[in-house]
Amino acid sequence: MMLWKKKRKNTIGCTKKLSEICTLRLHEPLSKHCTMHIGGPAEAMAFPETIDEFIAVVDYCQRSNYAYRVVGNGSNIIFDDAGFAGVVIKTSKMKHISFINDHQVYVEAGMSNQAFILQCHERNMGGLEYLYSVPGTVGGAIFMNAGRGKEHNLFIGQKVLSVDIWDGQTRRTLSARDCEFDNRQSVFHHHRDWIILGVLLVMKKISPEEGKELIRERMEFVNANQHRMLPNCGTVFRSGFHQTLFPQLPLRVGHIVTPNNNANWILNEGGALACQAMQLVEMIEEEHKKNNLPVPVREIEFIPTA
Ligand SMILES: Cc1cc2nc3c(=O)[nH]c(=O)nc-3n(C[C@H](O)[C@H](O)[C@H](O)COP(=O)(O)OP(=O)(O)OC[C@H]3O[C@@H](n4cnc5c(N)ncnc54)[C@H](O)[C@@H]3O)c2cc1C
Repeated sequence: MMLWKKKRKNTIGCTKKLSEICTLRLHEPLSKHCTMHIGGPAEAMAFPETIDEFIAVVDYCQRSNYAYRVVGNGSNIIFDDAGFAGVVIKTSKMKHISFINDHQVYVEAGMSNQAFILQCHERNMGGLEYLYSVPGTVGGAIFMNAGRGKEHNLFIGQKVLSVDIWDGQTRRTLSARDCEFDNRQSVFHHHRDWIILGVLLVMKKISPEEGKELIRERMEFVNANQHRMLPNCGTVFRSGFHQTLFPQLPLRVGHIVTPNNNANWILNEGGALACQAMQLVEMIEEEHKKNNLPVPVREIEFIPTA
Protein backbone atom coordinates (compact mmCIF):
# COMPACT_ATOMS: atom_id res chain seq x y z
CA MET A 1 0.00 0.00 0.00
CA MET A 2 1.33 3.43 -0.85
CA LEU A 3 1.02 6.05 1.82
CA TRP A 4 0.62 9.64 0.71
CA LYS A 5 2.74 11.95 2.76
CA LYS A 6 2.20 15.67 2.55
CA LYS A 7 5.46 17.44 1.79
CA ARG A 8 6.53 20.30 3.99
CA LYS A 9 6.68 23.47 1.95
CA ASN A 10 9.69 25.72 1.89
CA THR A 11 9.24 28.30 4.63
CA ILE A 12 10.89 31.07 2.68
CA GLY A 13 7.86 31.13 0.40
CA CYS A 14 5.62 32.07 3.30
CA THR A 15 7.68 34.87 4.75
CA LYS A 16 5.92 37.65 2.87
CA LYS A 17 2.55 36.66 4.31
CA LEU A 18 3.98 36.10 7.79
CA SER A 19 5.76 39.44 7.81
CA GLU A 20 2.40 41.09 7.11
CA ILE A 21 1.09 39.52 10.33
CA CYS A 22 3.93 40.31 12.74
CA THR A 23 7.65 40.99 13.08
CA LEU A 24 9.64 38.30 11.30
CA ARG A 25 13.37 37.63 11.22
CA LEU A 26 15.02 35.30 8.74
CA HIS A 27 17.90 32.97 9.56
CA GLU A 28 17.70 33.96 13.21
CA PRO A 29 20.32 32.18 15.40
CA LEU A 30 18.36 30.11 17.90
CA SER A 31 21.28 30.17 20.33
CA LYS A 32 20.11 33.72 21.12
CA HIS A 33 16.70 32.44 22.16
CA CYS A 34 17.42 29.72 24.69
CA THR A 35 19.17 29.72 28.05
CA MET A 36 21.53 26.95 26.92
CA HIS A 37 22.84 29.25 24.13
CA ILE A 38 22.85 26.39 21.65
CA GLY A 39 21.25 26.01 18.24
CA GLY A 40 21.65 26.89 14.59
CA PRO A 41 19.42 29.31 12.68
CA ALA A 42 15.64 29.19 12.32
CA GLU A 43 14.54 29.63 8.71
CA ALA A 44 12.20 32.25 10.11
CA MET A 45 11.34 33.52 13.55
CA ALA A 46 8.05 35.27 14.27
CA PHE A 47 7.40 37.64 17.18
CA PRO A 48 3.64 38.12 17.62
CA GLU A 49 2.72 41.00 19.94
CA THR A 50 -0.96 40.22 20.43
CA ILE A 51 -3.07 37.12 20.81
CA ASP A 52 -4.67 37.81 17.43
CA GLU A 53 -1.25 37.92 15.76
CA PHE A 54 -0.21 34.74 17.58
CA ILE A 55 -3.28 32.85 16.38
CA ALA A 56 -2.91 34.26 12.86
CA VAL A 57 0.72 33.08 12.58
CA VAL A 58 0.00 29.59 13.92
CA ASP A 59 -3.15 29.27 11.84
CA TYR A 60 -1.32 30.33 8.69
CA CYS A 61 1.50 27.84 9.33
CA GLN A 62 -0.99 25.05 10.06
CA ARG A 63 -3.16 25.70 7.02
CA SER A 64 -0.15 26.09 4.73
CA ASN A 65 1.55 22.99 6.12
CA TYR A 66 4.67 24.84 7.25
CA ALA A 67 6.65 23.38 10.13
CA TYR A 68 6.43 25.67 13.17
CA ARG A 69 7.35 25.61 16.80
CA VAL A 70 6.13 27.83 19.65
CA VAL A 71 8.67 28.84 22.28
CA GLY A 72 8.64 31.03 25.36
CA ASN A 73 12.03 31.94 26.78
CA GLY A 74 13.72 28.72 25.69
CA SER A 75 14.71 27.73 29.23
CA ASN A 76 13.67 24.11 28.94
CA ILE A 77 14.65 23.32 25.38
CA ILE A 78 17.73 22.63 23.30
CA PHE A 79 17.56 23.52 19.63
CA ASP A 80 19.36 21.44 17.02
CA ASP A 81 22.81 22.42 15.75
CA ALA A 82 21.27 22.63 12.28
CA GLY A 83 18.62 25.02 13.57
CA PHE A 84 14.94 24.70 12.71
CA ALA A 85 13.66 24.18 9.18
CA GLY A 86 10.49 26.18 9.65
CA VAL A 87 9.03 29.03 11.66
CA VAL A 88 9.89 29.42 15.35
CA ILE A 89 7.20 31.51 17.02
CA LYS A 90 8.43 33.33 20.10
CA THR A 91 5.76 34.59 22.50
CA SER A 92 7.85 36.98 24.60
CA LYS A 93 6.34 40.17 23.13
CA MET A 94 2.84 39.02 24.04
CA LYS A 95 2.68 40.20 27.62
CA HIS A 96 -0.50 42.08 28.35
CA ILE A 97 -1.83 41.76 31.91
CA SER A 98 -5.33 42.51 33.28
CA PHE A 99 -6.16 42.63 36.96
CA ILE A 100 -9.74 41.35 37.14
CA ASN A 101 -10.24 42.10 40.85
CA ASP A 102 -8.10 42.03 44.00
CA HIS A 103 -7.29 38.33 43.67
CA GLN A 104 -7.67 37.35 40.01
CA VAL A 105 -5.34 38.23 37.18
CA TYR A 106 -5.27 37.37 33.48
CA VAL A 107 -1.85 37.35 31.84
CA GLU A 108 -0.78 36.63 28.29
CA ALA A 109 1.52 33.67 27.69
CA GLY A 110 4.64 35.63 26.78
CA MET A 111 5.14 37.57 30.00
CA SER A 112 8.19 36.47 31.98
CA ASN A 113 7.55 34.90 35.37
CA GLN A 114 9.64 37.64 37.00
CA ALA A 115 7.74 40.56 35.43
CA PHE A 116 4.45 38.84 36.25
CA ILE A 117 5.34 38.33 39.92
CA LEU A 118 6.57 41.91 40.32
CA GLN A 119 3.46 43.39 38.68
CA CYS A 120 1.27 41.29 40.97
CA HIS A 121 3.14 42.62 44.01
CA GLU A 122 2.28 46.17 42.97
CA ARG A 123 -1.37 45.11 43.34
CA ASN A 124 -0.80 43.30 46.66
CA MET A 125 -1.08 39.90 44.99
CA GLY A 126 1.34 37.02 45.36
CA GLY A 127 1.76 33.32 45.94
CA LEU A 128 4.04 32.36 43.05
CA GLU A 129 7.32 33.83 44.32
CA TYR A 130 9.04 30.43 44.06
CA LEU A 131 8.76 30.86 40.27
CA TYR A 132 10.89 34.01 40.37
CA SER A 133 13.94 31.80 39.87
CA VAL A 134 12.42 30.07 36.83
CA PRO A 135 13.72 31.95 33.77
CA GLY A 136 10.72 31.29 31.56
CA THR A 137 7.42 32.75 30.43
CA VAL A 138 4.02 32.20 31.98
CA GLY A 139 3.02 30.14 28.91
CA GLY A 140 6.10 27.94 29.34
CA ALA A 141 5.27 27.58 33.04
CA ILE A 142 1.75 26.40 32.18
CA PHE A 143 3.03 23.97 29.55
CA MET A 144 5.57 22.52 32.02
CA ASN A 145 3.50 23.02 35.17
CA ALA A 146 6.56 24.74 36.58
CA GLY A 147 7.07 24.64 40.31
CA ARG A 148 9.38 23.77 43.14
CA GLY A 149 10.88 20.31 43.60
CA LYS A 150 8.34 17.47 43.82
CA GLU A 151 8.72 17.20 47.60
CA HIS A 152 7.46 20.78 48.04
CA ASN A 153 4.21 20.16 46.16
CA LEU A 154 4.13 23.71 44.80
CA PHE A 155 3.34 24.26 41.13
CA ILE A 156 1.63 26.87 39.00
CA GLY A 157 -1.32 24.60 38.17
CA GLN A 158 -2.54 25.08 41.75
CA LYS A 159 -3.20 28.76 40.99
CA VAL A 160 -4.84 28.30 37.61
CA LEU A 161 -8.54 29.03 37.18
CA SER A 162 -8.52 28.62 33.41
CA VAL A 163 -6.26 28.66 30.37
CA ASP A 164 -7.13 30.38 27.14
CA ILE A 165 -6.02 28.31 24.14
CA TRP A 166 -6.18 28.02 20.37
CA ASP A 167 -6.76 24.37 19.48
CA GLY A 168 -6.06 24.69 15.79
CA GLN A 169 -9.74 25.32 15.00
CA THR A 170 -11.12 27.62 17.66
CA ARG A 171 -10.19 29.76 20.61
CA ARG A 172 -11.51 28.22 23.81
CA THR A 173 -11.04 28.03 27.55
CA LEU A 174 -9.78 25.04 29.50
CA SER A 175 -10.46 24.63 33.20
CA ALA A 176 -7.53 23.81 35.50
CA ARG A 177 -8.84 20.25 35.58
CA ASP A 178 -8.81 20.04 31.77
CA CYS A 179 -5.12 21.00 31.87
CA GLU A 180 -4.23 17.72 33.65
CA PHE A 181 -1.38 19.31 35.58
CA ASP A 182 1.11 16.77 36.87
CA ASN A 183 4.81 16.59 37.73
CA ARG A 184 6.34 18.95 35.12
CA GLN A 185 3.70 18.13 32.58
CA SER A 186 0.24 19.02 31.39
CA VAL A 187 -2.32 18.17 28.75
CA PHE A 188 -0.31 20.34 26.33
CA HIS A 189 2.36 17.65 26.11
CA HIS A 190 -0.23 15.43 24.41
CA HIS A 191 -1.72 18.16 22.18
CA ARG A 192 1.21 19.78 20.48
CA ASP A 193 -1.12 21.69 18.16
CA TRP A 194 -2.77 23.52 21.08
CA ILE A 195 -1.21 26.84 21.93
CA ILE A 196 -1.45 28.66 25.23
CA LEU A 197 -2.64 32.23 24.73
CA GLY A 198 -3.16 33.41 28.29
CA VAL A 199 -4.09 32.25 31.74
CA LEU A 200 -6.45 33.33 34.51
CA LEU A 201 -4.87 32.86 37.93
CA VAL A 202 -6.09 33.26 41.47
CA MET A 203 -3.54 34.90 43.74
CA LYS A 204 -3.33 35.49 47.46
CA LYS A 205 -3.12 38.80 49.26
CA ILE A 206 0.43 39.84 49.99
CA SER A 207 2.19 43.15 50.63
CA PRO A 208 4.96 44.24 48.24
CA GLU A 209 7.41 44.01 51.17
CA GLU A 210 6.42 40.41 51.94
CA GLY A 211 6.70 39.59 48.24
CA LYS A 212 10.14 41.16 48.03
CA GLU A 213 11.33 39.12 51.00
CA LEU A 214 10.02 35.86 49.50
CA ILE A 215 11.87 36.62 46.27
CA ARG A 216 15.05 37.41 48.18
CA GLU A 217 14.82 34.09 50.06
CA ARG A 218 14.15 32.15 46.87
CA MET A 219 17.04 33.73 44.97
CA GLU A 220 19.39 33.24 47.90
CA PHE A 221 18.45 29.57 47.96
CA VAL A 222 18.86 28.93 44.22
CA ASN A 223 22.08 30.93 44.00
CA ALA A 224 23.53 28.74 46.76
CA ASN A 225 22.18 25.45 45.39
CA GLN A 226 21.87 25.67 41.61
CA HIS A 227 24.64 25.95 39.05
CA ARG A 228 23.66 29.14 37.30
CA MET A 229 27.00 30.67 36.40
CA LEU A 230 27.10 29.00 32.97
CA PRO A 231 24.32 28.63 30.37
CA ASN A 232 22.02 25.73 31.30
CA CYS A 233 18.42 24.57 31.04
CA GLY A 234 17.68 23.62 34.61
CA THR A 235 17.03 20.05 35.71
CA VAL A 236 17.49 17.52 32.91
CA PHE A 237 15.29 14.66 34.18
CA ARG A 238 12.00 15.19 35.95
CA SER A 239 11.86 11.72 37.54
CA GLY A 240 13.70 8.43 37.89
CA PHE A 241 17.19 9.96 37.98
CA HIS A 242 19.69 8.30 40.37
CA GLN A 243 22.61 10.49 41.39
CA THR A 244 24.34 7.55 43.15
CA LEU A 245 25.12 6.00 39.73
CA PHE A 246 27.58 8.84 39.14
CA PRO A 247 30.19 8.86 41.91
CA GLN A 248 32.76 10.35 39.51
CA LEU A 249 31.78 13.85 38.45
CA PRO A 250 31.93 15.94 36.38
CA LEU A 251 30.75 14.12 33.27
CA ARG A 252 31.75 15.73 30.03
CA VAL A 253 31.12 15.51 26.29
CA GLY A 254 32.91 18.23 24.34
CA HIS A 255 31.90 21.55 25.86
CA ILE A 256 28.95 20.13 27.75
CA VAL A 257 29.77 19.39 31.35
CA THR A 258 27.90 18.57 34.56
CA PRO A 259 28.67 20.33 37.83
CA ASN A 260 30.87 18.44 40.32
CA ASN A 261 27.93 17.35 42.47
CA ASN A 262 24.94 16.91 40.16
CA ALA A 263 24.61 14.86 36.98
CA ASN A 264 21.01 16.04 36.57
CA TRP A 265 22.10 19.48 35.37
CA ILE A 266 24.20 20.25 32.28
CA LEU A 267 26.21 23.34 31.51
CA ASN A 268 27.47 24.90 28.31
CA GLU A 269 31.00 25.95 29.17
CA GLY A 270 31.24 27.85 25.86
CA GLY A 271 30.81 26.74 22.26
CA ALA A 272 28.88 23.57 23.13
CA LEU A 273 26.76 21.74 20.56
CA ALA A 274 23.31 20.20 20.84
CA CYS A 275 24.75 16.85 19.72
CA GLN A 276 27.14 16.96 22.69
CA ALA A 277 24.28 17.68 25.08
CA MET A 278 22.28 14.83 23.55
CA GLN A 279 25.24 12.45 23.84
CA LEU A 280 25.75 13.25 27.51
CA VAL A 281 22.05 12.89 28.30
CA GLU A 282 22.00 9.52 26.50
CA MET A 283 25.11 8.42 28.44
CA ILE A 284 23.26 9.10 31.69
CA GLU A 285 20.21 7.21 30.45
CA GLU A 286 22.40 4.29 29.36
CA GLU A 287 23.95 4.10 32.83
CA HIS A 288 20.48 3.65 34.32
CA LYS A 289 19.73 0.84 31.85
CA LYS A 290 23.04 -0.89 32.60
CA ASN A 291 22.05 -0.91 36.27
CA ASN A 292 18.64 -2.40 35.47
CA LEU A 293 16.87 0.81 36.36
CA PRO A 294 14.13 2.42 34.30
CA VAL A 295 15.36 5.17 32.01
CA PRO A 296 14.81 8.51 33.79
CA VAL A 297 12.12 10.72 32.30
CA ARG A 298 13.45 13.82 30.57
CA GLU A 299 12.27 17.24 31.63
CA ILE A 300 14.23 19.09 28.95
CA GLU A 301 13.31 18.76 25.31
CA PHE A 302 15.58 18.47 22.29
CA ILE A 303 13.93 20.16 19.33
CA PRO A 304 14.82 18.44 16.06
CA THR A 305 15.55 20.52 13.01
CA ALA A 306 12.23 19.61 11.38
C1 LIG B 1 18.41 28.15 35.77
C2 LIG B 1 17.10 27.43 35.56
C3 LIG B 1 16.30 27.13 36.66
C4 LIG B 1 15.08 26.46 36.49
N1 LIG B 1 14.33 26.20 37.59
C5 LIG B 1 13.13 25.60 37.44
C6 LIG B 1 12.31 25.37 38.59
O1 LIG B 1 12.64 25.70 39.73
N2 LIG B 1 11.10 24.78 38.37
C7 LIG B 1 10.68 24.42 37.12
O2 LIG B 1 9.56 23.91 36.99
N3 LIG B 1 11.45 24.62 36.03
C8 LIG B 1 12.65 25.21 36.15
N4 LIG B 1 13.44 25.43 35.05
C9 LIG B 1 13.01 24.94 33.71
C10 LIG B 1 12.26 25.99 32.84
O3 LIG B 1 12.65 27.29 33.19
C11 LIG B 1 10.75 25.83 32.96
O4 LIG B 1 10.33 24.60 32.43
C12 LIG B 1 9.97 26.97 32.29
O5 LIG B 1 8.62 26.91 32.71
C13 LIG B 1 10.01 26.93 30.75
O6 LIG B 1 9.44 28.14 30.28
P1 LIG B 1 9.90 28.79 28.90
O7 LIG B 1 9.05 29.98 28.63
O8 LIG B 1 11.34 29.02 28.88
O9 LIG B 1 9.49 27.63 27.90
P2 LIG B 1 10.34 27.07 26.66
O10 LIG B 1 11.57 26.43 27.16
O11 LIG B 1 10.47 28.12 25.62
O12 LIG B 1 9.34 25.95 26.15
C14 LIG B 1 9.09 24.80 26.92
C15 LIG B 1 7.96 24.01 26.25
O13 LIG B 1 6.75 24.77 26.34
C16 LIG B 1 6.19 24.96 25.04
N5 LIG B 1 5.57 26.29 25.06
C17 LIG B 1 6.09 27.44 25.54
N6 LIG B 1 5.19 28.44 25.44
C18 LIG B 1 4.08 27.91 24.87
C19 LIG B 1 2.80 28.43 24.50
N7 LIG B 1 2.47 29.71 24.68
N8 LIG B 1 1.91 27.58 23.94
C20 LIG B 1 2.21 26.28 23.74
N9 LIG B 1 3.40 25.73 24.07
C21 LIG B 1 4.32 26.54 24.63
C22 LIG B 1 7.38 24.87 24.08
O14 LIG B 1 6.97 24.48 22.77
C23 LIG B 1 8.21 23.78 24.75
O15 LIG B 1 7.71 22.50 24.40
C24 LIG B 1 14.66 26.08 35.19
C25 LIG B 1 15.47 26.40 34.08
C26 LIG B 1 16.67 27.06 34.27
C27 LIG B 1 17.51 27.42 33.06
